[in-house]
Amino acid sequence: MAISGGVQSPSEVARCEDPAISATLPCASCWSKDYTKEIKVHTGKRYSDQLNAVGESYNYNFGTVQYKLSILCKTKNIVVVEIRFKIESDDAVNKVSVTQAKKSLIEGVKKYWDNQFSLKVVDPKCGTKILPIEFKVLFVKSDEHYIFKIHDKYDREGVTGYVLDVSKDTGPWTYAHEFGHCYGLPDEYGYNPDTEENDQVAYYKPDGTLDTPMSVPYNGGDPSDPASTIMAAYGNTIILKRHGWLIAIEANEIFNERGLGRRIVCDIV
Ligand SMILES: [Zn+2]
Repeated sequence: MAISGGVQSPSEVARCEDPAISATLPCASCWSKDYTKEIKVHTGKRYSDQLNAVGESYNYNFGTVQYKLSILCKTKNIVVVEIRFKIESDDAVNKVSVTQAKKSLIEGVKKYWDNQFSLKVVDPKCGTKILPIEFKVLFVKSDEHYIFKIHDKYDREGVTGYVLDVSKDTGPWTYAHEFGHCYGLPDEYGYNPDTEENDQVAYYKPDGTLDTPMSVPYNGGDPSDPASTIMAAYGNTIILKRHGWLIAIEANEIFNERGLGRRIVCDIV
């Protein structure tokens, strides 16, 4: 029988309340909408933390990040992390170079970040969904998340505030690393050789607790070190579950709307 007007028949409700049945036969109110949210957060103590040599958190100057998170659990069964870039380029950078830079950014993000992990959503009423996470770059004229600033020459590419500074010949790997920063990942290396301040980095897990801190090398790790990752060492392409945890942190907030009456739990798999 068709359900109309969002009103459930009594049997439908009973089915929803019985996890054994709803596991195989979801009720009409399950996965009934997609979720889209513009995320704008301070990453410190939310996504990651920096610790000194003895494991004390110190006041590292974390920035804020912004991106769009779409959890398409009703329609496409995917999650999309989208970042919108507005291009600004030096006068010395010609059209061909701008086109090449756009291509390299898209290539770096697709090649390294797509198909790395999925969002697992466990709903006690509706069952479990595994949603592959896709990453998307959009170029816009306004309403951008970041300025994509293409220089003729820029020695150390990086994200400062909402500006991504690159050279016209920056390669896809560097774009992939910097894209990681754009959506909230920290460097897994220290910046200062003279202090022990940023000796350790720790990620927050999807449940909001802090993971075991890891020691990080000064100024980039050895790319061939088995513990190295895309956020630690130049050219390394290892992406781990922890690099997706922040998506699950946001998803947990998005799903657990006020008055829901049950706890939906998200994780990265
Ligand atoms: Zn970096």
